[in-house]
Amino acid sequence: MQKDNLKFEELSHYKKKSKKRRSIKIKNKIIGPDTFSVIAGPCTIENYDDLFEIVSHLKELGCSFFRGGAYKMRTSPYNFQGLGKKGLEYLRKVSEKTGMISVSEVVASEDVQMMSNYVDILQVGTRNMHNYRLLAALGKVKNPVILKRGMSSTIKEWLFAAEHILQAGNPNVILCERGIRTFEDYTRNTLDISSIPSVKNLSDLPIIVDPSHSSGRRDMIKSLSWAAMAAGADGILIETHFSPDTAVCDSKQTIDFEMLEEIIKPVKRIVSLWGKE
Ligand code: PEP
Ligand code: MN
Repeated sequence: MQKDNLKFEELSHYKKKSKKRRSIKIKNKIIGPDTFSVIAGPCTIENYDDLFEIVSHLKELGCSFFRGGAYKMRTSPYNFQGLGKKGLEYLRKVSEKTGMISVSEVVASEDVQMMSNYVDILQVGTRNMHNYRLLAALGKVKNPVILKRGMSSTIKEWLFAAEHILQAGNPNVILCERGIRTFEDYTRNTLDISSIPSVKNLSDLPIIVDPSHSSGRRDMIKSLSWAAMAAGADGILIETHFSPDTAVCDSKQTIDFEMLEEIIKPVKRIVSLWGKE
């Protein structure tokens, strides 16, 4: 029987001084220290045509990844819960037609195997970061996993959650800072920018930032995206829709393509100066 301990040095992804940070390969793309990845798309998949339109536009803007939830973890049970399996079918079809890499949230361990056939990158939401059965099930598939930080979790707890996936057999974990609960209520959550250098000190795993759920405010997405880049993140995950005001979920924080373009244009130039693609 093992004695309790939580030492960073025991993590299999603990960053040793000379070691290069980990790159995650997915299809012909890489998420890691040599790239800056932009993952955009709606909070939830609403229907096939709209998803296709959004993803086609993202492709035109030079993005390689898109997001869209089929199973939503909503605070209120009266809010839209997602299209479920139908949504996954739309997501897979759009991904096949456009060649874009898909990201979608898995909410239950019994769905992991099934979803691994529909989605390229499986996301664990903030409310499930501590669902260790789900994390263990994700260790049994090959799909990369985006592990969001629990809204009330410390960096240590988050890195140990990642270890649950890694030690169960899946080395392809990407951490995602999505804001934490603080006393501040002007923003939906508080983006913990300092978690980026902290994670890079302690772990070899890539880290991306979600400015949408961090702030809950459309007017802050640009600043927070640039702050994430400046702090050394390996990418951003942004809720985007052609009609943010009428988006079914998280409309207040969703941006349009014009704003996305404003965000990513300078980002591409700056990260290339740093030798990132
Ligand atoms: C999401 O990305 O759609 C989402 C629900 O995020 P979070 O789990 O960070 O709230
Ligand atoms: Mn959302």
